[in-house]
Amino acid sequence: MDTEKDNSVKMVPAICTQCGGQVSVDPNMEAAVCQFCGTPFIVEKAINQYNVQHATIEHADNVTIDMGSSVKSVLDFAGEQMKERREMKREERREKRDMDAKFIATFFKFFGLFCVLMIVVWFIGTALGLFG
Ligand SMILES: [Zn+2]
Repeated sequence: MDTEKDNSVKMVPAICTQCGGQVSVDPNMEAAVCQFCGTPFIVEKAINQYNVQHATIEHADNVTIDMGSSVKSVLDFAGEQMKERREMKREERREKRDMDAKFIATFFKFFGLFCVLMIVVWFIGTALGLFG
């Protein structure tokens, strides 16, 4: 594994948004190409991805590129995202059910009011002899 050379440009660790490989990027650049999968990615996004992972994992400053752990963290990350998405879907469904229930309740309230109104109109109408 090759070590980082001390260039004039300060390189920053990032995670490839495509394959999850850990790469070093120049934060002044807008985009970079992943050295693992060759896919171009947005530097800012990749750095964010790295920060997100390492905020929870809490690595030391000197992180060596360990494919095993980076693959695992990508899987963890994906699993976490899937869980989040499932959670969101459940939340959405619950909200929808609430909305449906509210809608039905409102509908029956108005329907009941309408029925009462019709009965009142019918009574008045009958009393005044309008219908016959
Ligand atoms: Zn990649």
